[in-house]
Amino acid sequence: MRRGEADRFWEKVVKGPRPQDCWIWTGAVADDGYGRFWVARDGEQRALRPQRYAYEHFTGETLHSGVALMHVCDVPLCVHASAGGETHLLPGTQALNMLDRSQKGRHANASTFRWRGVGRAQFRAQSVELRSALLEYGWNEPIIRPLLAGIDPQAPTLF
Ligand SMILES: [Zn+2]
Repeated sequence: MRRGEADRFWEKVVKGPRPQDCWIWTGAVADDGYGRFWVARDGEQRALRPQRYAYEHFTGETLHSGVALMHVCDVPLCVHASAGGETHLLPGTQALNMLDRSQKGRHANASTFRWRGVGRAQFRAQSVELRSALLEYGWNEPIIRPLLAGIDPQAPTLF
C-alpha cells in the first residue's frame, strides 16, 4: 500500500533539468501556499506536507512534529530532498546554517527574491501560478525560471 502511495506522490512532482533545480509539487496547494498530500492513515484521510513526505522518503528519518523543515531554496512547493546529495530541504538548525551561508552569497539561488517576505495570500497566489504553469507547459525554462525567481531571466542577477 505504501508503495502505491509513493508512486502517487512522485507522479505529482515536476523536476527541473539541472541537478540543483527545484522539484515542484503540483498536487493540492493549501491557503498557506504550501502543498498538501492526502494519504490514508489508520483508516482516515490525512493531509501531509509534501516536503516532509519527500524528506522522510529519501532519508528514512521520521521528522517529529515539532521539528521545522526549511526550504533553503525558498520555494514552498519544492520537494527536492535527498540523503546526502543535493537537497533543498533541511531540518531546523542545519537549514539556518545554510541560509546564513546563502546570505553571504555562497549558495547560488535566485529564487530568494521572489519568495521571501511576501504576505500569505501572495505566497499562495505565486504557488498556484507556478503549479498551473508546470501542469500546462511542463518544465519550460523561459516560463518556469521567472516564476521561481520573480525576475526577468534576461535581467542581470541582483545577488
Ligand atoms: Zn527547491
